[in-house]
Amino acid sequence: MMLAYMDHAAAAAEPDTIELAMVADAAECAAARDFGGLVSARPAAVVRPASVDDVASAIQAAALTAHLTVAARGNGHSVAGQAMAEGGLVLDMRAVSRRMPMQLVLLSSGAAFADVPGGALWEEVLHWAVSNHGLAPASWTDYLRLTVGGTLSNGGVSGQSFRYGPQVSNVVELEVVTGDGKCRVCSPSSHPDLFFAVLGGLGQFGVITRARIPLSPAPQTVKWTRVVYANFADYAADAEWLVTRPSESAFDYVEGFAFVHSDDPVNGWPSVPIPGDAHFEPSLLPAGSGPVLYCLEVALYQHHQQQPDDVDERMGQMMRQLKYVRGLEFAADVGYVEFLSRVNRVEEEARRTGSWAAPHPWLNIFISARDIADFDRTVLKGMLADGIDGPMLIYPMLKSKWDPNTSVALPEGDIFYLVALLRFCRPYPGGPAVNELVEQNSAIINACRCNGYDFKIYFPHYHTQSDWATHFGSKWSRFVDRKARYDPLAILAPGQKIFSRTS
Ligand code: FAD
Repeated sequence: MMLAYMDHAAAAAEPDTIELAMVADAAECAAARDFGGLVSARPAAVVRPASVDDVASAIQAAALTAHLTVAARGNGHSVAGQAMAEGGLVLDMRAVSRRMPMQLVLLSSGAAFADVPGGALWEEVLHWAVSNHGLAPASWTDYLRLTVGGTLSNGGVSGQSFRYGPQVSNVVELEVVTGDGKCRVCSPSSHPDLFFAVLGGLGQFGVITRARIPLSPAPQTVKWTRVVYANFADYAADAEWLVTRPSESAFDYVEGFAFVHSDDPVNGWPSVPIPGDAHFEPSLLPAGSGPVLYCLEVALYQHHQQQPDDVDERMGQMMRQLKYVRGLEFAADVGYVEFLSRVNRVEEEARRTGSWAAPHPWLNIFISARDIADFDRTVLKGMLADGIDGPMLIYPMLKSKWDPNTSVALPEGDIFYLVALLRFCRPYPGGPAVNELVEQNSAIINACRCNGYDFKIYFPHYHTQSDWATHFGSKWSRFVDRKARYDPLAILAPGQKIFSRTS
């Protein structure tokens, strides 16, 4: 095996050579940047593997080269350089996925699974599964232009997580190339320690080259509804009630967000109506409503065999029990694929305004239900009462849906909220300076610490090992042991800044 810088044609003519793209200029190198736009790290080379063997060969070659590290890059949608490798090799996982077809696996029991490459986008999985087989995975992210390997390395959450579990709970087998360059297939019954290490493992233990995802019949349509609350206590009580209902009387999707009590098009009332739907009528809000309001978003799937009237009836029964502001409800019936693709519209609009390419100082926190009212008072109504120029997601999920053997660090509480501050900055000087927003994120984390909240950062990025040890808490020693077992030279995912390459 040889590592060489060469063009595509030369690589094709040289079967024993991995194709490497020369990095001519860091500014032109996508691998030196990510969606966050806050950090940049120039790799020595970008590897475009054509097969799993190429992934293994790149890692084996790095192991033989002093100081060389390897980062798998999914779609580069991290916000703090997590998929970068300064002076190292970046594996373009999208390249290998283009050469590996997705496959349907049917067991004699009737159970169906998708074998998908680690570099496949969830959007590709959705279209392939629904169009070709009328099937679909159960657990999604809000936005689907993320890779399977990228979200499984973190968690993968959305409004389905409370019911179906996060994406790390919706995978039954992985093919992984570990830090010694060996390719292993693992599952809860075969090499379970590796399987669970990799899930939520921040890319530290191996490169996911294939994942086996359970499939079930795809719903046909989705009843999608948003309702508004003027006070947080009612919002949280209803949201928690909804996520703890038995599945036969539960929604398929429960999310929600905070928004500003104003007519600001991005931060205020206009952000609530479902696209194409009615106007928001603020006079319906109770007198004395505070500076921050809340929107609960729910959805119920309808399958081919179900009568629309039955689904309407179920929806009505559930909605009647909620304490939202009557009249402030927005509903639409949409196709299943359209529902799951709803954030694409946001992307199109953000690309049009330039905010997609601007920096994204995002902050995602998992915070225990015990502390969420205090967090709302201190952070949402206090520090962020004017909004953040983007969605402020806040919705609950259940710890019982997460396997404690995975590497994901979660709060202690049985119910915890995702708080996602998804800032879409207007470019400076029109908008605030990015460093001020980064400082505001630090101030929020500090407030969580000082107030003793039970919380964990989702998509964490720290610079010292003691911060990482605090993040993982009681799981830290297991994390360190697993690193020594699966990537003893600390070659993998250097952009996470957890371990340093041993020479
Ligand atoms: P990258 O950013 O490329 O990589 C992330 C990390 O995973 C890196 O450490 C990388 O080395 C590692 N990695 C990548 N591929 C592999 C692999 N095959 N094997 C091993 N390690 C690998 N998250 C949610 O949970 N829910 C959401 O609803 C959601 N919405 C989002 C919307 C937008 C617009 C954006 C930008 C992000 C969103 N995210 C969401 C966050 C997203 O899950 C993370 O950014 C995640 O890292 C996936 O992005 P990626 O595939 O581009 O991975």
